[in-house]
Amino acid sequence: MACIHQGGCLICRVYQLESIITSQATEVGGLERTGAHSHIRGLGLDEKLEARVNSQGMVGQLRARRAAGVILKVIKQGKISGRAILMAGAPGTGKTAIAMAMSQELGDVPFTSLSASEIFSMEMSKPESLTQAFRRSIGVRIKEETEIIEGEVVEIQIDRSVTGVGPKSGKLTLKTTDMETIYDLGQKMIDSLTKEKVMAGDVIQIDKVAGRITRLGRSFTRARDFDATGADVKFVQCPDGELQKRKEVVHMVSLHEIDVINSRQQGFLALFSGDTGEIKPEVRDQINQKISEWCEEGKAEIVPGVLFIDEIHMLDMECFSFLNRALEDTMAPVVIMASNRGMSRIRGTNYQSPHGVPLDFLDRLLIISTQAYGEEEIKQILKIRCDEEEVEMADDALSVLTKVATETSLRYAIHLISTSHLVAQKRQANKVDVADIKRVYSLFLDEARSVQYLKDYQDEYLYNEIVPGQSDSM
Ligand code: ATP
Repeated sequence: MACIHQGGCLICRVYQLESIITSQATEVGGLERTGAHSHIRGLGLDEKLEARVNSQGMVGQLRARRAAGVILKVIKQGKISGRAILMAGAPGTGKTAIAMAMSQELGDVPFTSLSASEIFSMEMSKPESLTQAFRRSIGVRIKEETEIIEGEVVEIQIDRSVTGVGPKSGKLTLKTTDMETIYDLGQKMIDSLTKEKVMAGDVIQIDKVAGRITRLGRSFTRARDFDATGADVKFVQCPDGELQKRKEVVHMVSLHEIDVINSRQQGFLALFSGDTGEIKPEVRDQINQKISEWCEEGKAEIVPGVLFIDEIHMLDMECFSFLNRALEDTMAPVVIMASNRGMSRIRGTNYQSPHGVPLDFLDRLLIISTQAYGEEEIKQILKIRCDEEEVEMADDALSVLTKVATETSLRYAIHLISTSHLVAQKRQANKVDVADIKRVYSLFLDEARSVQYLKDYQDEYLYNEIVPGQSDSM
C-alpha cells in the first residue's frame, strides 16, 4: 500500500512490516491446524458473570471461571495495574485454557505466552527478556487518515440519519476502483435509499455503469467479504449537502515490533528469525516518547494485552524483583501466571515458598485455584476436543477414553484422540471405536506406565544414575 509519508518514518516501517507479514501468511496458508486450546472461544459466562456449565468450549471449573470473569471486569475498568493473576492448580486442570479464554474475552489485544524457563538464555539478560515479553504484550493502535488510492476495494457506510430511512446503523457495501465513481455512487445511494426502504443488514450492489441499485438480500455477503484492505471509508453529509470523504487506516503493532523495526542493529527481519538481541534503552525511550506524543494528538492508542507466564516457579529473585517494579507501570499488560507446584524452593535460594514464589510477590497476586475434574466434565472436554479435531468417536469409545483420562491424565487422553483416529482410518473406518482406543493405549505409554517401564528396565539404559536401594522419589 502506498503511503502519504515519504518513507523512513515509523508508519512507513509499519507498512513494510505488515506487507511482509501478509506475504508470509499467504505462503503458509492452506494448512488448518488445531492447537491445544483452539476449542476455547471465551470464558462461557452469562451476563451476571456466572459460569455456564458448558459454553464457549469451556467445561466445569465454575469458580475459577467466575473469578476470571470478575478480574476481566476489573481489567476493562483499567484498575488492574500493579497486580497480576496467579492460576494455581494441578496439571491439566485448565489454567492455560482459562488464561486463553480471558485474552479472547478482551478482544483484539496482543497475547504473549511463554514458559518461565525461556527467560534464561545466554543471548540476553533476564530483565531484557522480560522487558521484551512485556512490550510484545502491549499493542499500539496507530490511526492514520489518508487518501483513497485507485484500485483499492473500499467500503461505504452511510449513516441512516442522513437518509432518514430505516435504522441508523445500516451498512452499505460496494466494490469500486475509482474515486469519482465512489462519490457519484454515494450520492446515488442516498437518493435511492430514500425511496427503496432498505433494511439494516441488507447488502446493496451498485451497478457502476448504469448507476442502478439492486437489493441482494440479507445473507448474500458480509461486509468483510469486500473489505480486503481494512479500509474504512465514511461518507457523512455536511450541512451544505456535500459528501465528505474520510478514510481511516488502523495499524495494530506491538511495542516490541516497533522497537525491533527501529533498532538499526537488528532491523525488522529479526522479527522473523526471532534473533532480536538486546535493544538499547535509548531506542525504547525515543519510541515511548513518540508514542505518547501520538496518543496526546489522538493518532495512536495504547492497548494493554495479556502476558501469560507458565511454570512461574522457574523464575528467580532477580526476575521477581523486575516484575514487582514492571507491574507498577501504567502501560503494563495484564500478567497472568500459572503454577502446578505446591511448596517449592525459590529458585537460586534455600527458601521454601508456596508455588516457589516469594511471599512479598505472592501478596500482589490475585490467586485463582483450579480443581480436579469429575468424570462427566472430562467426558465433555474430550467430546469438545473430538469435535475440534473433526474426529467421530463411538459413544462406548468415548466412555473408554474418559476412563483412561481419569486413570492417567486428561492430556494423555486428548493425545489419544488424533492417534486413534489414524488407526481407525487405517482400517478404512470413519468412526473411532473401542478397539482403536485400546490399540493406541498399548502403543503410547502414559506417565505412570513410562515410569514403571523405566524402573523395570533401568539396567538396560546407558548412564543409569539410580543407585540400587536409594530412594527414587523426585
Ligand atoms: P499444566 O499445569 O500441566 O500446564 P494446565 O492446568 O495449564 O496444565 P491446560 O493446558 O489448560 O492445563 O489443559 C489441558 C488440556 O485440557 C488443554 O487442551 C485444555 O484446553 C483442555 N482443558 C482443560 N480444562 C478445560 C476446560 N475447563 N474446558 C475445556 N477444555 C479444557
